[in-house]
Amino acid sequence: MDVLHHLGYRTLGPVVDAETIQWRQVDTVDALPTGVHARQGAGEYRLEVQSDDRLFAWNHGPQAIKPLLFSAEERLWRERLMVDGQIETKQTLPEVEPTAIFGVRACDLAALALQDRHFLSPQHPDPHYKIRREALFLIGIDCAFSAATCFCTSTGDGPSLGEGFDLGMAELDDGYLFWRGSAKGSEIIDRLSLEPATEAQLNSMIQATDRAAAQQHRFLPGETELKQLYDRLNHEHWDEIGERCLSCGNCTAVCPTCFCYSTGYQRTLDGRSAEMKRQWDSCFSPTHSSMGQFMVRGETALRYRQWLTHKLAGWQEQFGRSGCVGCGRCITWCPVGIDLTQAVAALLDGGLADA
Ligand code: SF4
Ligand code: SF4
Repeated sequence: MDVLHHLGYRTLGPVVDAETIQWRQVDTVDALPTGVHARQGAGEYRLEVQSDDRLFAWNHGPQAIKPLLFSAEERLWRERLMVDGQIETKQTLPEVEPTAIFGVRACDLAALALQDRHFLSPQHPDPHYKIRREALFLIGIDCAFSAATCFCTSTGDGPSLGEGFDLGMAELDDGYLFWRGSAKGSEIIDRLSLEPATEAQLNSMIQATDRAAAQQHRFLPGETELKQLYDRLNHEHWDEIGERCLSCGNCTAVCPTCFCYSTGYQRTLDGRSAEMKRQWDSCFSPTHSSMGQFMVRGETALRYRQWLTHKLAGWQEQFGRSGCVGCGRCITWCPVGIDLTQAVAALLDGGLADA
């Protein structure tokens, strides 16, 4: 951390806050959560302190790094009436400082790559996202443990780091391994006094991620099968989920790849100034599918169907892959424990051959 501070980065890392793992500013290693593991299940999240002294034994908390780039609410621009009667309009871009994030998981890096594809499209780059994204330095870490809700192995996004980090890291029983992910990461490595990894350490690293992969019992089928959700639009299981789903939108708020937002124009009472704000929106909000007075998806079952089919099938057409990176957050944080892997299995079960 000292090297990063010396280079002008503020450092964010995982800390325990409100009984969850959250990204917060950390200035010393002492602030990291020692021996903290996360027990997760459908609608269940609990942190437990175990006797090991690992700092990265936890599985992710409710948020990936999405909110650090795509703010849950922010002003886009403001305007005011000038004395000469003209209207002055100003874009309001965020002020950012170089930020290093410690302990980003493979699934969250895969989600970030998808968010980049959306927010940094050459045709319509989002300036608010871009300015924050360019200030990031990412220290990824292999997962040595999986939560019961993780299924990144089946989506091909973890538990080992793939790409998209500046510095790679693995936590072993007796220390850490670091490797270069980018030119910026190389610069940091060159400033550290590191010993070359031994073969035993490299084997331990591989065994740890193999163990994490073997701990996963949920899975999604391959992308070709997922496209067959389009052939299940009238399946009775949508209504069964619709009976249970609260339309609360938790799943979309915690999903690291969901990017929907709505905008609102607010004028001051004197009518002399106004601002445009945006905030996260969700397939589950009543207004998400409104066209004038007409709501396209008035029923919860239709909203869930929209979310699942777009995420798993529609994204393949838009972004070349499914929008799910197997983080399992939507399962953990659904208050009624709806599990998308079970939903997919029920919708595709027995129907693949005749679809
Ligand atoms: S759909 Fe669920 S499991 Fe997939 S990326 Fe989103 S939150 Fe994670
Ligand atoms: S699936 Fe769960 S988290 Fe998502 S809207 Fe329904 S009740 Fe809420």
